[in-house]
Amino acid sequence: MQILTHPNPVLGVRADEIDPVTDTDLRQLVRRMAEAMYEHQGVGLAAPQLGIHKRIIVFDIEDELAAICNPVIVERSEELETDEEGCLSVPGISVPIARNTAVTCEGLNLDGSRVVIVAEDLLARVLQHEIDHLDGVIILDRLTPEERKAAVRAYNEAASE
Ligand SMILES: [Zn+2]
Repeated sequence: MQILTHPNPVLGVRADEIDPVTDTDLRQLVRRMAEAMYEHQGVGLAAPQLGIHKRIIVFDIEDELAAICNPVIVERSEELETDEEGCLSVPGISVPIARNTAVTCEGLNLDGSRVVIVAEDLLARVLQHEIDHLDGVIILDRLTPEERKAAVRAYNEAASE
């Protein structure tokens, strides 16, 4: 399963809202996303990483696959934590990214019911990371220009190995 990688311009496009009730392709898409995520040992994946401009993410933090449509962060902790973060679309490197340590995320499940996820630590980080993808933002975009330059250099080196 091909995951798009930087600098593919598709990764910079904002994905569209979806209606899980009428979008009959969603379950199939979730299966493909989960397959790609597990194949590459990821903990989360967003549809744009497969070139699909739909606002849907999957993640698996505690041995349970979850999918959320149109996820929105409605509340964030004031507290931030900086930790090394990787991305299946920027393989081979990890970079320090500051994220809110806790978030509340709202969205829809595949049946169209509203879901609320109160997340902290790794799950909070994964949700922020994957929702960034839906907005066309990747980890490199969250770095200072100097950090980004160094990260891109390391990324290109990792890719040429
Ligand atoms: Zn990513």
